[in-house]
Amino acid sequence: MKLLKDRILNDGKSLAGGILKVDNFINHQMDPVLMKSIAVEFVRRFADLPINKIITIEASGIAPAIMLGYLLELPVVFVKKAKPKTMGDMYVSEVHSFTKNRTYDICVSKEFLSADDKVLFIDDFLANGNAAFGMLDLIQQSGAALLGMGFIIEKSFQEGGKRLRELSDIRIESLARIKSLEVDKVSFEED
Ligand code: 5GP
Repeated sequence: MKLLKDRILNDGKSLAGGILKVDNFINHQMDPVLMKSIAVEFVRRFADLPINKIITIEASGIAPAIMLGYLLELPVVFVKKAKPKTMGDMYVSEVHSFTKNRTYDICVSKEFLSADDKVLFIDDFLANGNAAFGMLDLIQQSGAALLGMGFIIEKSFQEGGKRLRELSDIRIESLARIKSLEVDKVSFEED
């Protein structure tokens, strides 16, 4: 997606350790106009799938997911990174965070994810795939069907994309695929 790639080149910052900082338009300050274009592109790529629900993880997945849910007129569920005291029965899985170097539980209420659901997972980044695999585990526990996974940015020099694509039957779409990140230099995969 050219608009997104141009924005990454203009406003993204490539940090040591393979981290791309995009807190000017995705992770801290958000650009809703770009986010709308991102959601429109996700609609284009997933329009043929019979999805009934969008699912994401707090916090940075929520903005693209809600834009997409708005366009498709579908409910959006965000999986939580801390177990709320008020949540009843829930599904729980463990995720290791690459950026924060810590392991945490993710959880979703059984009220909002069930065997009747056909879901599309949306997130900001695909790096090692740990968040995506934690999400896959939650979805499998619930008996729901995962039809697709959409990421704003994939860092294809990390293993997540390869690991997920080996699962074959799940459609995976990333709007900007980064081949390499050097300090102050971002290179994209060819589309
Ligand atoms: P994964 O579980 O695929 O290794 O990483 C996914 C999560 O880590 C994303 O949802 C995102 O929050 C965070 N993340 C991974 N790599 C980066 C990065 O280069 N920049 C930013 N801003 N977040 C990242």
